[in-house]
Amino acid sequence: MFSLEIQTLIKHLSKLPGLGPRSGRRAALYLIKKRSEFLKPLAEALLSVHAAIKTCTLCHNLDTKDPCSLCEDPKRDTSLLCVVEEVSDLWAIERTDSFKGRYHVLGGVLSALDGITPEDLMIASLLKRIENSLKTEQPIQEVIIALNATLEGQTTAHYLMDALSKYPITVSRLAHGVPMGGELDYLDEGTLSLALKSRRPL
Ligand SMILES: [Zn+2]
Repeated sequence: MFSLEIQTLIKHLSKLPGLGPRSGRRAALYLIKKRSEFLKPLAEALLSVHAAIKTCTLCHNLDTKDPCSLCEDPKRDTSLLCVVEEVSDLWAIERTDSFKGRYHVLGGVLSALDGITPEDLMIASLLKRIENSLKTEQPIQEVIIALNATLEGQTTAHYLMDALSKYPITVSRLAHGVPMGGELDYLDEGTLSLALKSRRPL
């Protein structure tokens, strides 16, 4: 029914989050119909992002430079470090405009079911980062654990609290507003902002 090129396009589009084969076909047809004003700029944007994207070696955020713009920004408070699961959570917190510290992206959460162990996450680099900062004039003073309120997120939070207890820092976590099973990226800005503001020491 479709040529190989169109089939390949549909196959790739179907794999995007939230899409399936049906929406993949719809998106492909839309792109093909709007090939000059939309398909070509999209193809160019994809290639340029692919060429430019970098993972920040400090916080593991995705940006076009390393260290990323957030790590490089002199206006950000270096004493506050917010630990998140994924870059989407970092983006969600940035949208609230209520956090002016820095981030650390774990790249996932512990999961016995999926075989995700501490070694698979950016935990060693988090501890190293804290240790290094404690030797400087601007040490990290508070780590905010902002993980999803899922079973895996909470297991990971407990693991981190344990690992961080040996450092002379305050460890806090998000409080009110994050429902059980809730994912940060799906919360509205107000709820997430309140959760961040009402964080409490453990
Ligand atoms: Zn960074």
